[in-house]
Amino acid sequence: MKAIRIHAPGAPDVMKLEDVPDPQPGAGQVVVRIKAAGVNPVDTYIRAGAYGQVSCPFTPGMDGAGVVESVGEGVDRVRPGDRVFVAGSISGTYAELALCSAKRVHPLPENLSFAQGAALGVPYSTAYAALFDRAWAAMGQTVLVHGASGGVGIAAVQMARQAGLTVIGTAGSDRGRQLVQEQGAHHVVDHSRPGYEEEIMRLTGGRGVDIILEMLANVNLARDLKLLARRGRVIVIGSRGEITIDPRDTMRQDSSIIGLLVLSYTEDELADFFRLMTPALASGNLTPVVGVVMHLAEAPTAHEQVMAPGAYGKIVLEP
Ligand code: NAP
Repeated sequence: MKAIRIHAPGAPDVMKLEDVPDPQPGAGQVVVRIKAAGVNPVDTYIRAGAYGQVSCPFTPGMDGAGVVESVGEGVDRVRPGDRVFVAGSISGTYAELALCSAKRVHPLPENLSFAQGAALGVPYSTAYAALFDRAWAAMGQTVLVHGASGGVGIAAVQMARQAGLTVIGTAGSDRGRQLVQEQGAHHVVDHSRPGYEEEIMRLTGGRGVDIILEMLANVNLARDLKLLARRGRVIVIGSRGEITIDPRDTMRQDSSIIGLLVLSYTEDELADFFRLMTPALASGNLTPVVGVVMHLAEAPTAHEQVMAPGAYGKIVLEP
């Protein structure tokens, strides 16, 4: 089969499309014929060697969607021919075939395309974990999705709206803000405009927000602490460096800063999140947005694009 291979960590162009042997499923494993692979920022950190040791060569990619090719002994949750999405892969999803633990392979609702299925894994589990596991989101509360135009942000806007929260979403481009509005945000703010925090305080009548889902904490965390209502919490989802905060800002509102790493959740916990989301996915209440589709060979360009400003939903690669 064809697969993207990385022989040594480095810049995007270390990713090359090569011929590699087809994976075979062992007990409890599934091989999926990938029709679309989701590109996540974490793929770029791993590619660059910024995410700890990886043994080379390897194929990147955690997310994807396709059709079950074969199953190993003891697998009964999916069968060959089933349409599925993948949230985690042993062999990597930037490939024609991906070997996965059966617990990371989930039925893809009929109404979703393979490209949309590839947008589910990391983004939807992260948004779900952030809102409902870490932030205890509840109807009537206000959430600021700080970085709402990308993979995680769009998922969070859709879920929070469904759950009856008031949603404020931010984006840095006109196109991104338009998308965030279309996905259900009640209010949309430009996070690149100086003084945008005043607009958020005005939108909440001076009260502040109950929850912030933060995609770029190293830029925003100090300001976030001043935007929280009493007992508010910031969930740190994305951060690309250090920042100085005034700890007194947490005392003033009895507020909390909570970190989240979706990769630390167990297979069973993640499978549970997807099981709970499935009715909303099947009914169209949660609908992944695919902004860009590229060929697998264009993985280097996709990695550059996912780290660039102007996010618009999900970037996917098709073999
Ligand atoms: P993405 O699709 O590339 O989207 C990035 C988002 O960050 C866009 O909405 C972008 O908005 C926004 N952003 C850029 N500058 C910002 C600023 N100054 N303030 C607020 N937001 C800003 O990435 P993603 O998949 O949604 O992931 C978002 C971040 O979370 C990444 O850093 C990723 O590594 C991290 N993440 C962490 C976990 C975890 O387990 N902790 C899981 C998934 C993702 P514009 O482009 O419109 O400016």
